[in-house]
Amino acid sequence: MGSAVAQWLTASGAAVVLVDRFARGHTRGGSHGDSRIFRLAYPEHEYAQLAVKSLPMWRDLEEKCGRGLLVRTGGVDHGPGVVRTIGGALARLGVPFEAIHPHAAMERWPGMRFVDEVVFQPDAGRLDADGAVNAFQSLAELSGATPRFGCRAGISEVTDRRVIVATESGEIEARVVIVCAGPWSPLLAPSDLELPPLRVTHEQPAYFPVRRPGDNWPVFVHYDASGGHTFAGYGLEVPGRGVKVGLHASGAVIDPDQVQRPMSREVAAELARYVASWLPGLEPSPTETVSCIYDSTPHGDFVIDRRGRVVVACGFSGHGFKFAPAIGQLVAKLALGEVRAPIRFRFR
Ligand SMILES: Cc1cc2nc3c(=O)[nH]c(=O)nc-3n(C[C@H](O)[C@H](O)[C@H](O)COP(=O)(O)OP(=O)(O)OC[C@H]3O[C@@H](n4cnc5c(N)ncnc54)[C@H](O)[C@@H]3O)c2cc1C
Repeated sequence: MGSAVAQWLTASGAAVVLVDRFARGHTRGGSHGDSRIFRLAYPEHEYAQLAVKSLPMWRDLEEKCGRGLLVRTGGVDHGPGVVRTIGGALARLGVPFEAIHPHAAMERWPGMRFVDEVVFQPDAGRLDADGAVNAFQSLAELSGATPRFGCRAGISEVTDRRVIVATESGEIEARVVIVCAGPWSPLLAPSDLELPPLRVTHEQPAYFPVRRPGDNWPVFVHYDASGGHTFAGYGLEVPGRGVKVGLHASGAVIDPDQVQRPMSREVAAELARYVASWLPGLEPSPTETVSCIYDSTPHGDFVIDRRGRVVVACGFSGHGFKFAPAIGQLVAKLALGEVRAPIRFRFR
């Protein structure tokens, strides 16, 4: 998110210093790796709208950086009531989708099992996560941003006139500071902002080999009976690596500075059970595991807001990546004083 904001701010002519405590391309937070799901299919209007806004922005970013970042695969969402909830939200935005009977869906995608109705949305796809982060950073630097990687920062002073950010390579005086520190955000943001406590979990999806190379694999999200944007399983095919499958927010609660441990037997067994039960097109044993961190708010919504000279954007949990271009623009405009934060994302 910080890199997306820097790209938008420098494109608007602002002078930007982009500070990150770890090295460029690090794997300690939530944004690294070869893939993320892009989808328009959300039950909530605001999220569906933000995804619709992000799609052309991803294409614009591809043009600017001269490489593909989003591969269109189509996406299926399945679970109780998805045609009413997700279909309803898509219809409201005029976004095309198909409502498919589970039996017909199993013929179309034989690698998956369905018991409930299915929503197919053709614009969904696979984002190149590392490629996107790199594109945001390179474009920001091309437009004048000063990168400081491997440089831990802290806010040492906030007055009506300025902010002082103390870093390992000296102080930075600025008009506005933007905190996009993911799970570390509550440690950096001034305490009077009363950020919601972030639940930080160590998430470990894994890659499973496909049984039949010819099977068609759209990206997928499987909603359990609880509905809303808590989903059970998700996944996408990554050419050459198999299908990456994860159980949403199933990881252990950790301190973000804690060493990330190998996958526990319990989590591995739960994931293998899920694959054996819902993804017959995959071999039941994974070939490799991914390690990554979620930061989730108690109310489940993102936090994007400004108070005085401090802007904060965090709590993107396991589904923020797809919105990065639109959130980058929103946060940049907040920092430039051009907009107010959407109500749903305000400090509360
Ligand atoms: C396993 C997994 C699967 C996911 N799948 C999807 C998906 O399919 N689709 C989707 O849309 N989203 C997905 N997401 C969510 C998405 O990847 C995240 O919401 C997003 O990447 C969060 O970005 P961020 O910039 O907020 O956080 P981070 O990437 O964690 O960035 C925070 C940065 O702050 C820096 N920092 C912290 N403290 C300091 C300090 N004191 N000084 C300087 N820098 C500091 C850190 O070094 C870090 O680089 C997934 C996430 C995970 C973990």
